[in-house]
Amino acid sequence: MNPTVTDATSAAPDPAAGRAILIRIRRQDKPGAEPRWEEFSVPHRPNMNIISCLQWIAAHPVTTEGKPTTPPVFDSGCLEEVCGACTMLVNGRTRQSCSALVDKLGEPGEPITLEPLTKFPLIRDLFVDRSRLFRDLKRVKAWVPIDGTYDLGVGPDVSQKNQEERYPLSRCISCGCCLEACPQYTPANKFVGAAVISQVRLFNEHPVGAALKEERLETMMDEGGVADCGKAGNCVEVCPKDIPLLESIAAVQRQATVHAIKSFFSR
Ligand code: SF4
Repeated sequence: MNPTVTDATSAAPDPAAGRAILIRIRRQDKPGAEPRWEEFSVPHRPNMNIISCLQWIAAHPVTTEGKPTTPPVFDSGCLEEVCGACTMLVNGRTRQSCSALVDKLGEPGEPITLEPLTKFPLIRDLFVDRSRLFRDLKRVKAWVPIDGTYDLGVGPDVSQKNQEERYPLSRCISCGCCLEACPQYTPANKFVGAAVISQVRLFNEHPVGAALKEERLETMMDEGGVADCGKAGNCVEVCPKDIPLLESIAAVQRQATVHAIKSFFSR
């Protein structure tokens, strides 16, 4: 639990003391069940985030109409915008609920709406199954291959330029925001989406990771690969880590084209 967002230990008076936060949650008991909206009133505390509201509601599962209900189900982990687990639609925008501070969400008194991501299979309420994203990272071999656990000695030199290009890409938290916002990424297709394409670039440009470059590019040229990107650009708008996703997509498209030409002439 993150004490900075859940403890009301500040000595400073709360100007919003006595105020209540209205939270409207799209509830769904199981996949395929009829969704419904439930509204909850949460006592305001300084520095509240959405997760602290959900924790309060889970401990006091009674709607604003006074109807007892079940505690809402949601996912969370690090509570510091690193794990991506608490990603959901907050007032219609895909983002991490741990870093969504209620005092910065709309006007006081207006309900804050919470909905599950729509591109991943729903498990219950706000909890979705993001496994597809991790399966796709496996599909493109998004790792640096290390042969054994013995001392491999000093690794290859990495230029400052290479480090500076790859560092922003390494900040991906696999939250799925870019996939939620992408019109090309749907539950019915195989498109891997911007996050995975960007990881292909990250590992292809790593001096050791490049050992698997051709295999990654073969996957990128397959169904669901980089050619499926429609360049809508929504991914960069919603990425919480400001990853240059369109640059990554363009870079991987260039790599895939060069790979295809080389493969053709080496037949
Ligand atoms: Fe999230 Fe950005 Fe990574 Fe997409 S690229 S999963 S939006 S951190």
